Amino acid sequence: MQRSRLGAIALGATALLGAALASPALAATDSEVPSFSQFHASTYQDADRQYIVNGDEPIPSTGELKGYYDRMVHGSEEAVENGLVVNTVGGVDDAWSRAQVGDLTYCVSTKFGARHGDIVAAMAGGAGLWEAASSAIDFVHVPSQDASCTTRNKSVVFSVEPVQTTQYIARAFFPSTPKRSRNVLVDDSIWTSGSWTPTNILGHELGHVLGFRHEHTRPEAGTCFEDNNWRPLTPYDSASIMHYPQCNGSSSNLSMTSTDRAGAVALYGS
Ligand SMILES: [Zn+2]
Repeated sequence: MQRSRLGAIALGATALLGAALASPALAATDSEVPSFSQFHASTYQDADRQYIVNGDEPIPSTGELKGYYDRMVHGSEEAVENGLVVNTVGGVDDAWSRAQVGDLTYCVSTKFGARHGDIVAAMAGGAGLWEAASSAIDFVHVPSQDASCTTRNKSVVFSVEPVQTTQYIARAFFPSTPKRSRNVLVDDSIWTSGSWTPTNILGHELGHVLGFRHEHTRPEAGTCFEDNNWRPLTPYDSASIMHYPQCNGSSSNLSMTSTDRAGAVALYGS
């Protein structure tokens, strides 16, 4: 979840999508396509050295950043006409197995300090949005791992850790992300994000964890295009929890819609 949505609607798309639009997504006009070295130099690198693209989506290494760049610049140009959309890797859905999606274990770092209990509650709230949509989905907090909650903790699928950054409110990962990079990072600004509640923000991030892409990459949004490496699950939904409000979205609070729930069922079953 990218920062700067406060009063976001008034700010307009460019203000908040600085990071995303610095990417080759600008390829609409060829003269604006940056070289890889330019793209590399302009891409934000996170505290754990991962690259952040599309506002809140991590890429683990320079090699994978090059792959991302190549797909953006030279990638599939097939027309995509059809709402919740699932990430694809090499044309294949980026999703969990039925067994794994029913046991998505996580820890919440005690480094959140006085906010630990609040993060635990917001994670449960965000997870509950998806769990209510599909009974196949189950996020499971494992409190016994909270004191050693990093990507190196092999007892959980992923960790939830604090970060200090001005680049985003929170960010997550996709099912295809290797274990060493599988964490949800949360900045303190999550507590001061106005109509974007912590539950909805973490619900958005857990949407990425489930494999869902930003809804605004669909052509119907008319802005904020990212790439074509996704497959539609539902008709376009401008109010989706996965749609940045500032990208011509029709909801200002990141709440989950019935179409989001239908998309979760389309991917994982009811
Ligand atoms: Zn996002």
